[in-house]
Amino acid sequence: MEQINILDLSKEELSNAIKPAFRAKQIYQWLYQKYVTSFEEMKNLPKELQLALKKTYHLDPLRIVKIEVSKDGSKKYLFELKDKNTVESVLLPMKQEQVDEEGKRVHHTRYTICISSQVGCKIGCTFCLTGKSGFKRNLSAGEITSQVLMIKRDNAIAENRRVNIVFMGMGEPLDNLTNVSKAVHIFSDIDGLSISTRRQTISTSGLSSQIEKLGQLDLGVLLAISLHAVDDTLRQKLMPINKAYNIESIMNAVRAFPIDARKRVMFEYLVMKGINDDQSNAKKLVKLLHGIKAKVNLIYFNPHHGSDFDRPSEKDMLAFQQYLVDHGVLCTIRQSKGIDISAACGQLHDKEKHDIA
Ligand code: SF4
Repeated sequence: MEQINILDLSKEELSNAIKPAFRAKQIYQWLYQKYVTSFEEMKNLPKELQLALKKTYHLDPLRIVKIEVSKDGSKKYLFELKDKNTVESVLLPMKQEQVDEEGKRVHHTRYTICISSQVGCKIGCTFCLTGKSGFKRNLSAGEITSQVLMIKRDNAIAENRRVNIVFMGMGEPLDNLTNVSKAVHIFSDIDGLSISTRRQTISTSGLSSQIEKLGQLDLGVLLAISLHAVDDTLRQKLMPINKAYNIESIMNAVRAFPIDARKRVMFEYLVMKGINDDQSNAKKLVKLLHGIKAKVNLIYFNPHHGSDFDRPSEKDMLAFQQYLVDHGVLCTIRQSKGIDISAACGQLHDKEKHDIA
């Protein structure tokens, strides 16, 4: 009998499968808070249960194949799945300064983990290496959550340390909505990783009908839209999916999406030199976002081998940002973290294939 990945199970499913049901809570704590790698380490379980679990389940759906560490501290992981496919995830540590109650400046690190939801991707964005390598399969919920678990374990990130999750790695999360929404539940389970849904961001290429479905699930997650262009002609060139879901349909779906009063919908705008970086694009973007509680992330395009686009100049980037800010749109410029470690999605995966070949 083929063993089941225990990390694919929600706590409810585990408590239905294991008797007495309270053991599910203990197992969850061992897996997600104490980061054990075997059933034998679950010391408060009776021996017979440990053996029974070992027969039915496995708890190691991923293996670390490669880690690349950037000068800026970000770490890119290449994981191998049981079927030998590979996916990647990135740990992005962010140093922050705060003033404590005594007025002293204290530094601490906030972690964001960028994870994959599919092996490959069907969407085929022209600027993306994952898109170029085609689609293989969806990741299961456990394969999604394991990426975070393994990165927390590998970096000794304390169980109670807050992390943010972004579904921005390989794949289109809304094309795997069933497993992604299950992973969101497992992430937020109080006996598990206990990551609030408000710290989880689902990024989509703009599958309008799936944005509506995600909204109906009312998970409380944040939404990010990979917009990248402000008119359908250019967007269709960059992201062929725009033929099926044009900009208007995306904006309508976003307007209907339930957003926490303190949060905003993020619009990712990958800036490419001479393609979408001038003031006329900035002007159209402001118009498009009218009436939406939005935040725009401008991202420097990170050239990679095989790409047809270039990085914009800093001057154009700043002018673009200034236009948005002057017109009341919250806007940040995201420095491409891990620029020296091929940190755009699909790059490590692709590079590894070349290294192996
Ligand atoms: S950018 Fe995202 S949605 Fe587009 S092809 Fe790459 S992985 Fe898929």
